[in-house]
Amino acid sequence: MITVDLRSDTVTKPTPGMLEAMFSAKVGDDVFGEDETINALEEKAAALFGMEAGIYCPSGTMTNQIAIKCFTQPLDELIADQTAHVYRYEGGGIAFNSAVSTRLLNGYRGILTADMIEPEINAENVHYPRTSLVVLENTVNKGGGACYTLDQIKPIAELCQQRGLKLHLDGARIFNALTHTGEKANDYGKYFNGISVCLSKGLGAPVGSVLLADKETIKYARRVRKVLGGGMRQAGFLAAAGIYALDHHVERLRIDHAHARIIAEALAASLAVANVLPVETNIILFDTVKPADEVLQKLAAEGIHAMSTDKHRIRFVLHLDVHPEQVEHVVKVIGSLVH
Ligand SMILES: *Cc1c(COP(=O)(O)O)cnc(C)c1O
Repeated sequence: MITVDLRSDTVTKPTPGMLEAMFSAKVGDDVFGEDETINALEEKAAALFGMEAGIYCPSGTMTNQIAIKCFTQPLDELIADQTAHVYRYEGGGIAFNSAVSTRLLNGYRGILTADMIEPEINAENVHYPRTSLVVLENTVNKGGGACYTLDQIKPIAELCQQRGLKLHLDGARIFNALTHTGEKANDYGKYFNGISVCLSKGLGAPVGSVLLADKETIKYARRVRKVLGGGMRQAGFLAAAGIYALDHHVERLRIDHAHARIIAEALAASLAVANVLPVETNIILFDTVKPADEVLQKLAAEGIHAMSTDKHRIRFVLHLDVHPEQVEHVVKVIGSLVH
């Protein structure tokens, strides 16, 4: 039976080429700064985004949490959309790691504007926490893979500069956003103080994220990473997968996006589906007529695995281990669903 795992783009396995790159990596003790593969990955990613430096971490949660720690002081407040991964899915780490409170806004599919942010910046007053950081997410995970364009980011970056706030990008799926907008990674560096990039989502590495920022920030980030227990040793074997992913798995993201559009069309035509949210990248959110769990069971019986995000909502995520014949199977099964 054909099986298709659409639960997340984190389920991918290393390709033979990636495994080969991992096996042949030159490594050293990274806590001493001696792992040349990690150094190469950090430099490569920083250069790609027009940033000064980078730090390799086990997860995107860690890169985000380190960034928040670097860009705030205890008692400060950060601003983010109410769907933000840094708030919802990082275990309350903002409060725990940084002793910072969070001001949540209601963006459109998680996308914020400078006009939404400006009134939420606290005035200088002893009663108010000091607003010191804005966090954007691109693409927005909970927003169904919605993208910011640089035109939308620019006014937010300008506002942050005027008001002395730092701006961090949770770019777990930044390459999906760049694939959709056609913009260049290198243009991102001038707008953000920090950028977090996941190598283990659509890019297909088994583990790892990089945080990019200026040299001073990354120097401090190494301290914070150590405190969090994230100082790794010969992790160049893993970083090699990240380099391989940047070299070989960015271009192909457009295939995942095309697959998402094909499946979204099939969903839109199905009587079992009440609504398909706009699809921009590799994530599809759709509402089911029957309870989502019932639909998930029917899909699972046909080898298709996905997750619900609400009682009547299901999420499909496309990735490099979903091939055309599997997409065909998904379309066929969707066509056979009755409500
Ligand atoms: C997956 C993800 C992260 C990082 O998650 P880890 O599992 O810790 O690597 C951060 N932000 C967003 C939006 C994500 O989807």
